[in-house]
Amino acid sequence: MKSAHHIEDPDVILIGAGIMSSTLGAMLKELDPSLKIQLYEMTEGFGEEASNGWHNAGTGHAGLCELSYTPDYGPDGEVAVGKAIEIFNQFEQSKQFWAYAVSTGMISNTHEFVNPVPHLSFVYGQEQVDFLRSRFKQMQAHHFYEEMTYTEDRAEIKELAPLLVKGRDDTPIAVTKMDLGTDVNYGVLSGKLIEWMGAQDGAGYATNHRVLDITKANDRWTLKVKDLATGRTFTNSAKFVFIGAGGGSLPLLQKSGIKEAKGFGGFPIGGQWLICEKPEIVEQHMAKVYGMSPGAAPTMAVPHLDTRIINGKKALLFGPYAAFTTKFLHVKGQITDLPASIRTDNIASLIKVGLHNIPLVRYLVQQGTQSMKTRMGELLKFYPEADPADWELIDAGIRVQAIKKEDGDAGIVHFGTEVITSEDRSISALLGASPGASVSVNIIVEVIQRCFADRLATTEGHDRMKAMVPSYDEDLSLPEHAERQRELSQAAFKILNCC
Ligand SMILES: Cc1cc2nc3c(=O)[nH]c(=O)nc-3n(C[C@H](O)[C@H](O)[C@H](O)COP(=O)(O)OP(=O)(O)OC[C@H]3O[C@@H](n4cnc5c(N)ncnc54)[C@H](O)[C@@H]3O)c2cc1C
Repeated sequence: MKSAHHIEDPDVILIGAGIMSSTLGAMLKELDPSLKIQLYEMTEGFGEEASNGWHNAGTGHAGLCELSYTPDYGPDGEVAVGKAIEIFNQFEQSKQFWAYAVSTGMISNTHEFVNPVPHLSFVYGQEQVDFLRSRFKQMQAHHFYEEMTYTEDRAEIKELAPLLVKGRDDTPIAVTKMDLGTDVNYGVLSGKLIEWMGAQDGAGYATNHRVLDITKANDRWTLKVKDLATGRTFTNSAKFVFIGAGGGSLPLLQKSGIKEAKGFGGFPIGGQWLICEKPEIVEQHMAKVYGMSPGAAPTMAVPHLDTRIINGKKALLFGPYAAFTTKFLHVKGQITDLPASIRTDNIASLIKVGLHNIPLVRYLVQQGTQSMKTRMGELLKFYPEADPADWELIDAGIRVQAIKKEDGDAGIVHFGTEVITSEDRSISALLGASPGASVSVNIIVEVIQRCFADRLATTEGHDRMKAMVPSYDEDLSLPEHAERQRELSQAAFKILNCC
């Protein structure tokens, strides 16, 4: 168990020690050092669930080469790249805040949580090559992507990523590349931010503590908390609660009883990776390589072959293979999580989702039960000489995607992130997980704008936020801000030792 002080009746209680709560805790304490904050986490450590290095792909999602953000041609007959630009803009804010945290001494040892790794898009077959060429044309026209390169030349591609080319037939292939990509260990980063927060006056944390219930009385939220080591339960209360509990957010949000939570359901999607730690193979690959969606795959299950750097050691990761599950959490989840989340206000939405997403459910069941030979088939499309003996299957994290009542008959599973906030702005929760950790700073800035607007309204508060996230009230995607974006980006990457 990890703990620092214990703050009774604080201003803010944070639930969960993943990247979202840790970012909010650190930013709030920096914005207003007088705020009293207490964090509870039910696992033994920090960032052990979805934010853990092995439970996600560690992509610093900036919409560089992930083809899932640019799936379609636009009305002009060229690939539409607006979503990628939006994600890039949001990731810039993460880079800025992490660089601020390093430069002010909040956190240190950047290589433990962020490393430069080029990002590549890789396609095969003439149709995909035509698609990538159009995408490149559209992307390179924007200042965010001016350094992107494109090639169909096999010798060049072999130079960039030998594993993609060795043993491949002569089907046309193409690659786009951005050198300024990152591999991020969000679990380690969460821990660093929480440890900093816990070392400040008036802030504390306790792991191995599960929040069981949330109720409101007299303008304060009272939380029932269980110390999992001793079995003791106790209460603590706060003016503001942030439910950053990942897959555990929906059940807690439902317990809060706020009207904004009514009708929401959760659709869990499990994941698995193939990993390779054999040095002679790992050393041949230094890139995160994204391919195109295979058929019914949901956007976040589009395969990629990734260099990962975890605890200073390089490994290769391939996947994710999606899987059907009824658990909401990887470490402390239970198979009853999905059925236990069914309420009268969301059962209709859940049934509609079941009926409208039969191909998705079929895909998840089929993916989760496929043989190693079938899994290798997907990997061979990227790495034709891959040997099953070099790869091991491990479980990834679970994403609980949001289902909304107001979708009516549509039965949509939302592959994005939803911030649910009560009308009186005393409680906020995060549902969903894509693009997730990469845009955590942008999401948390949104929570602060909604729930701590008074702090931002003062000159001091505004200046403090501007120091943490210089572009927080600017749109760096506008052409007139191109030079400012280049300056901010380079400055952040320099501090993060990524260039
Ligand atoms: C397979 C996969 C691949 C992904 N790849 C990427 C990627 O490449 N890049 C990217 O940016 N994002 C990626 N994501 C998304 C990213 O991992 C998540 O968006 C992010 O980690 C969510 O952080 P969080 O803090 O909300 O949740 P978590 O990290 O899950 O933290 C929530 C914490 O709350 C705790 N908790 C839950 N209930 C309670 C309770 N009742 N009491 C106390 N504590 C509680 C949990 O134990 C957990 O530690 C991926 C996700 C998955 C599953």
